[in-house]
Amino acid sequence: MKVIKVTDQFEGAKVAFDMIQEAMKQDIKTLGLATGSTPEALYKEMVESDVDFSHMTSVNLDEYVGLGADDPQSYHYFMREHLFNKKPFKETFLPNGLATDAKKECERYDAILESHPIDIQILGIGENGHIGFNEPGSSFDGKTSEVNLTESTIEANSRNFSDISEVPTKAYSMGIGSIMQANKIILLAYGTKKAEAIYQTIKGPITELVPASALQVHPDVTIIVDEEAGSKL
Ligand code: PGA
Repeated sequence: MKVIKVTDQFEGAKVAFDMIQEAMKQDIKTLGLATGSTPEALYKEMVESDVDFSHMTSVNLDEYVGLGADDPQSYHYFMREHLFNKKPFKETFLPNGLATDAKKECERYDAILESHPIDIQILGIGENGHIGFNEPGSSFDGKTSEVNLTESTIEANSRNFSDISEVPTKAYSMGIGSIMQANKIILLAYGTKKAEAIYQTIKGPITELVPASALQVHPDVTIIVDEEAGSKL
């Protein structure tokens, strides 16, 4: 794993976007995208650039169960607001939060992943080391599944809701096995709250208790951290 220390999320966004642009010189087709506050600066960088994504496909990591695409708290909405409305892609995929047959929805998403191999996967990381919504204990071979969110994730994400009781307790998430299939992975982490997870991801044992530690065996991972998130390294 390559670790790059940056001064802040804006420099991190520039470094990540340079890597994406470099890769786009080869004929890449599919970006794996993430939501949350971490990639916001990257999406701003993409929006403000003159780079054309209209020939590219995006596949997102996850979506809350129970939220439709027009719900302002949904990840569909987040992606439209932060990226797709301003930078059109050829096609964009996220799990359908309103799907009632979880098994079918997971199979549908796995089929999408199968037909759109991810060239570059952008990741954030949870304070508990989750990637996507793959919480501690998730199988490293996992495919798309309906996940029960842990209390710590619900608590962390409640900052975006008016009340913690409104935070969905389940999500559809791409599995760690699928994330590991990406050709190149760029994980971004900022702030002290991520320091322990980053330490465990890079220096700790490879264990399903720290989902991001799976990345230690991926051949092309870059971890971009600010001073705070990298403070325990
Ligand atoms: P954040 O979430 O970017 O909002 O910190 C990251 C994550 O939970 O994966």
